[in-house]
Amino acid sequence: MGFLYLPWRKRYKRSSVTDVCPFCHAFAASDDRANLIVKRFCTCALFLCLHPYNAGHLLVIPYRHIGVFAELTEEERYEMMDIMNKAIKVLFEIMGCQGMNAGINLGDGTAGGSIPQHIHFHLVPRFKGDTNFLPILTGTRLITSDLMEIYDKLVGAFGDER
Ligand SMILES: [Zn+2]
Repeated sequence: MGFLYLPWRKRYKRSSVTDVCPFCHAFAASDDRANLIVKRFCTCALFLCLHPYNAGHLLVIPYRHIGVFAELTEEERYEMMDIMNKAIKVLFEIMGCQGMNAGINLGDGTAGGSIPQHIHFHLVPRFKGDTNFLPILTGTRLITSDLMEIYDKLVGAFGDER
């Protein structure tokens, strides 16, 4: 078995953990577009990820600043899954992706989470041929889509839906 070492990732994790929670900061702000909040629901919001693993990378995040999954209320759990269900459908439609990764990193950062103190689900659209060595060798991820163009499409797709 081979291994790939990504030392830059450790620096990213270390800096993120000590900063102010960006999700709580975005919830408190009034400009949803500037903070890439696609839609605010009752207990959670849908974000377009500022540091995407791929074009259209979304985050579903509860308003409450909690990092322990068992502390989510029943209402939060149901709404998160409902939002994910809708977002998956929308992403396949507007991004034209062929696959998708959906997941959550839990714990103190051991599982790869960069902001473990505030739970967030990831939805990452996948496109045929999108896996390559560019980010590993250069520290650069190639995304050919415009972030705000995707944001506008997502806002349009979610509209007044609750
Ligand atoms: Zn927070």
